Parts: sequence; C-alpha cells; structure tokens
Amino acid sequence: MCQWVTMLSQLRRIVKDVAQEPSLEKALAGLVRNVKHALKTECCSVYLADYDAHQFTLMATDGLNPAAIGKVTIGFSEGLIGWVGQREEPINLAQAQQHPRFKVTPEVSEEQFSAFLGCPIIHHRKVLGVLTIQQAASRVFNEDEESFLVTLGVQLASVLANAEMRKGSAGSAAPRQQNSQLQGLIGSPGIAIGEGFVLQPASDFDAISLKQSDDPEKELNRFFRAVKVTKAEFNRLAERMNGHLPADALAIFDVYHQLLDAASLGSEIEAQIKQGWCAKSALKLVVERFARQFDDMEDPYLRERGTDIRDLGQRVLNHLLENEQKTLKLPEKVVLVAENVTASMLAEIPRQQLVAIVSLKGSVNSHAAIMARALGIPAVMGVDELPLMQWQGHQLIVDGYHGQILVAPVEAICQEYRQLISKDAELSARYRAELHLPAGSACGQTFNLMVNSGLALDLEVTQSEFCNGVGLYRTEYPFIMRSRFPTELEQVELYSAVLRPYAGKPVVMRTLDVGGDKPLPYFPISEENPFLGWRGIRLTLDHPEIFLVQIRAMLKANIGYNNLHILLPMISDLAEVDEAQRLIRQAWFEVDDEFNGEGIVSKPKVGVMIEVPAIMYQLPELARKVDFCSVGTNDLTQYLLAVDRNNPRVGNLYDALHPAVLRALNQLAQQAQGLQFPISICGELGGEPLGVLILAAMGYQNFSMNHSNLAKIKWLLRRIDLSELRLLLPEVLACHSPKQVRVLVQRFLDQKQLLNQLRA
Ligand code: PEP
Ligand code: MG
Repeated sequence: MCQWVTMLSQLRRIVKDVAQEPSLEKALAGLVRNVKHALKTECCSVYLADYDAHQFTLMATDGLNPAAIGKVTIGFSEGLIGWVGQREEPINLAQAQQHPRFKVTPEVSEEQFSAFLGCPIIHHRKVLGVLTIQQAASRVFNEDEESFLVTLGVQLASVLANAEMRKGSAGSAAPRQQNSQLQGLIGSPGIAIGEGFVLQPASDFDAISLKQSDDPEKELNRFFRAVKVTKAEFNRLAERMNGHLPADALAIFDVYHQLLDAASLGSEIEAQIKQGWCAKSALKLVVERFARQFDDMEDPYLRERGTDIRDLGQRVLNHLLENEQKTLKLPEKVVLVAENVTASMLAEIPRQQLVAIVSLKGSVNSHAAIMARALGIPAVMGVDELPLMQWQGHQLIVDGYHGQILVAPVEAICQEYRQLISKDAELSARYRAELHLPAGSACGQTFNLMVNSGLALDLEVTQSEFCNGVGLYRTEYPFIMRSRFPTELEQVELYSAVLRPYAGKPVVMRTLDVGGDKPLPYFPISEENPFLGWRGIRLTLDHPEIFLVQIRAMLKANIGYNNLHILLPMISDLAEVDEAQRLIRQAWFEVDDEFNGEGIVSKPKVGVMIEVPAIMYQLPELARKVDFCSVGTNDLTQYLLAVDRNNPRVGNLYDALHPAVLRALNQLAQQAQGLQFPISICGELGGEPLGVLILAAMGYQNFSMNHSNLAKIKWLLRRIDLSELRLLLPEVLACHSPKQVRVLVQRFLDQKQLLNQLRA
C-alpha cells in the first residue's frame, strides 16, 4: 500500500515535470533520468514516432550512448521498439538479445543489457512513442515495474500529444511552425481568417504556458509593478483586519511582504526573468517549485505554507494579468479562443469583429457551438493540444466545415481560403434571395420554419417576417449574462422584447434550462454527472420561487400579444408535467388577480421537450396532459447514445445521424401523427441540410433552427420533392452507421445537383 502511495506520487511528479518543461528535449531528458531513479533500474529511454518517415527516433536516454540521441532511428516495423509500437502493448523480455525481433543497433551500445521492458505511449488510438527500461541482469521485470511504466505511458500520452508543437520551441513565445494544422471537432460550419484572441475566465497558474521574452528589462519592470500593487493590497488588508484578527494571524501579511522581498522569492523570480523567462512564467516556475517543496514536508505546519505561497503567487499573477489585459488590443478580426467559450465572453467582443470561435473544451453540440451557429460564424471545438496562451496573436484559419485550424498559414493558403469565403458568401446571397418566399417543398408540402432565439436577438428579430415564429426561446441565456437572478420586472421586459416583434406568430418560450453545460455564474452547481443531474425542470421545480416568477413574467409580457407558448425542458416523468402545470395555473391566477380578473391575461399553450428517451414511451399520456411537444435532438442524441455532448474525447461518437437516433425520431413522428399530437423539432438536426431532409421524409413539418440556417434550409426544401425523399427513407433507416446515412443522402443531393450548392 505504502509503496503504491510512493509510486503514485513519483508518477505524478514525473508527469508534472515533463508538462512544465517547455523544451521537449529537456523534458524527455528529465523523464528518463527520473524513471531510471524511481524504478532503480540501469537504463531508461524514450523513442518518439515520426509518422512522415515511418520510424521512431531515440529522443532521450539515461543508460544508452548519449551520442545516439536524435540520431538513431528505428523503422515502424523494425526491432523491439517497432514491435512494441505494432502490438500496442508492453513487451517484457528477460533476454532481449535472444529475441528474433531484436535488431542490433551498434550506435546505442546496449550490449550489456539483457532485460528489456518496452511500453507504448498511445494518445487517441495513435502510438506517439515507446518508453523502455533495461537492465543487465537477465530477468523479467516484475508486475509493479510493468504497471508503473504502463501507468506512466498513459499519463504521458496527453502531455506528449503536443510534442509536435513543442519540438524545437525551447519555450519560445512563437512555438508554431508556419502553416501547422490542428484537428478539432466541427462546432459550426463556415470558414474565417482572423487573429487568435484569448479570453481567460480567471487567472490560474495551470492555464499559464511557459514563455520566454526577449526584453527582460520590460518583464522585470512588469513584475516590480505587480509586486508593488500586491504589497499595497496586503497593507490595506492588514489595516482592515487589524483588531478583527489576533496578532499572530496578522503576522502572515509580514511574511508575505518578506517573501516578496528581493532577498527571498522575489530574488528567485528576478533571476528567472534575467534568464529570459517572461514575468508570468518566472512567477509560475518559482511559486510552483517552492510550493511543491513545502507540500512534501513532513511537518503539517510547514506543509500548509505551500498554500500560502500559492495564494501569494496568485495575487501577484492577478495583477500581472490585469496590466496585460489592459494593454491587449482587440484585433480587427477576432478569433475568440478560450478554454470554454461562454455567452458572457461572446458579449465582450463587438459582433462585427468576431469572425470565429475556437473552444479548447466542448464538443459538437455544446452550447458554445450552438451559440456560434446562432451567430453564423465558424467554430472548432475540443482542440486542446496547444496551451491556451499560445493561441494569442497568431493568424488563424478556422475551417468549421472540417473542424480544422491552420495556424500561421502561408499567404498562398490564405489566398485559397479567401476564395472559399467569397464562394460561401455568394451561396448565402443566393439563399437569402428566396428568404421572403413561403416555406414549402417543390411538390407543394408546406412547412413551418421557425427560429431558435435567445442569444443574438438583434439578428433574430430582423428575420421575424421571413419565418413562422420562434420555435425555441432559450430563456437561460439572459440569466447567464447577469450576476444575479433577473427580477420579475426585468424578465417582463426581456420577454416582451421577443413577443412584440413576432406579434401574430407563435413564440415558444422554454422555462429556465440551466445545469449541464449551462451553469449560472451566481448559482454554481457541482455534480459528478451534470447532464444526468439537477438540470432544467428538475431544478426549477425544486425552486418554485424561480419557476413562478418566470411564468408570471411570461404571462405579463404576453398581455396584448397572446402569442406565448410555454415549453418545459428535460421532462423525464409525468409527475413533473403535473407539477409544472399546477404552478403555471397558480401563476396565472396570481397574475389574473393582479389585473383584477379583467380577462386580459390569456392562458398559453403548454408543451414538453422530448429530449429524455424515457418520455418517448409515454407519448399518449403526455398528449393528454399538454398541447404540443418539441423534440430536442441535441439532448435526445446525447441520452440515447450515452455520449456526453460536451466531451471531445467521445465527440466522434456523438452523431444525430446515428441510425438508432433516426429510428427513434421516425417512431416519434408516427406516434405523434396517430395521436394528433402537434410535434416540432427544435434541436440542431432540423437546421442541418441532411437532417431536415430525413426528418421531412419522416413527416415532420415544423422545424425551429438557428436564424443563420433559415435561408439555406428554406432554399433547400423548395427544391425537394417529398415523394422522392420518402422512397429514400427506408434505406436511410436501414443504414448501419451515421457515415452510411451521410453517403446515402449526399448521393441523393448530388443526383439533384444540389450538393455543391450547399457549401463552397
Ligand atoms: C436540445 O436538446 O435539442 C435543445 C434544443 O435544447 P438545448 O440544446 O438547449 O439543450
Ligand atoms: Mg436540450
């Protein structure tokens, strides 16, 4: 047990050291040294894969001939190293040189070693390299040694995944090679060229990537300024606390002062800056080193001092970042890059300047991606190979069609992409030219095309005359943008602003759907499984004071317009519908009473979102309780496939065109038709060309989508004969994979010469 605790902390330390060392060569040199020491073996080496040359290169060794580093290469199908890579599993041999796969490589001088343990380093199914330990004695490495190396390999994989980026960078501020390409997930289609602009929610050492500077003088001055402000802050705090805290507790401020002094931490940081690190990096290096030394101490009092050092460092960092943020100029064309793009971040950037979004976390149908689609700008999600700050200031091409990003592209490439951007603009103009026409198919079937609203209201309102209403107003966005719950009066104003421009057309307002990946900043919820937790109706029914105020505000805003419909999110149980209906009735009586029963407060239609699979099987009961239902394909896909819509690791499994999802949607359409239960689609699938065609073939006629998709979908539907699509449907439903579905429907579109008109 104890031995495992030591091993775990050794592992953690080794991986952290590699992650924090900006030079890959130095990181790997430290790695092999530390592993050799931890396992008390005689040799440790690391080989990295080069997929262009189909070979592994010896990158670091402690035990083999150091002159071979960077020179010795082994083909993917050669020797024991190649074999480990091919088999994708550890190979443990007592007498390596007797093995038929052993290849003599004289340059490495390994004659003295008999025992060999090689372990692959694999990231996202791709072998990045091989880690080996060797020993003179002829013995099989024991289970502890083997599992240590396997665990290390797994942990190192994501750290080494950005090895490409770090290769040769030696911590420079511009680590990217020209024209390098990063792959993420498609968040929102389209192409844009702009400059990376990083927004960080809060300063945090983990988010700081190490950078060097060529102006130590300037960095020193920045550091001294931040120290000065931090000291003044301590003086203010000490003064405020004087009399409230005992003298020994107040003494901490003196300690902080001393630590910041030139003779202590301060001098170490200065030394790092003089060695070429920028102020933030120097601070991070020193604070983390000192804090770790305290963390490792036996004495609990001293161990606690690690926390003090981090607190102190955090304060200085805050002031360094404050100054930095003040001096950062917003580029003309902003590609917003953030760990997690939030609605409030979007609000910080003027709409005309924002050309694309890159979110390091999140996936295809995260709300950041949906927001990008609402804004009609490309987005790439889940592309976290590069540390956040390294995106700052680089020219980026964001290709939202393929989920790719080109960093620092050469001019010829930019030229090509500019042509694609203008072709896209031409196509958009073609769709917009038909926006005023009615929504219907070539064979005469009419459709209700509505918009999803809540974020980009100004844009959505301009389309009010070209659509059949609002099929989904996500009320949570205005809640997220505030620092407290909006009052009833504020909500009345918000909702009137949506109901008014759509007077005479239905507006479906969804009650607050927070939780999952939409937290309220002023009501944090910490859960192991947020998408299976306290979300949507579950939360608001537990807080009737929030629910009632919202419904009252909706009812009041509806006076004079009478176009309000209320939609309940995340319903998984019929009792939730009953309880919500009871509260809606209560709110109606209250509001009606406030208006002296004059009869001006109308009773809106109430509907339920079909997004939890369970409720699909209770449709007849549901149809008796509410007026309509709306299918949230985003969540329905997530819950049917058991794939977190926000997790890029499983992003490739999240696909609304999965045949199982399509079959569920087909059954729903048929059932709703049999029950004469009004049904619409408000998930993203209804705003995608392939999705809307399949859904139309199933019989869906009401679609609500991001306003930026409206013109394109209307244009497409006008060119489709439904009888032809219906013939295709059985084939689509019989497909085995989303890929097959895509091929089938794309072929159909190609035959109609529509495919090449859907994007550049
Ligand atoms: C859905 O789940 O499909 C939906 C429309 O709601 P949201 O994306 O806001 O969860
Ligand atoms: Mg949903």
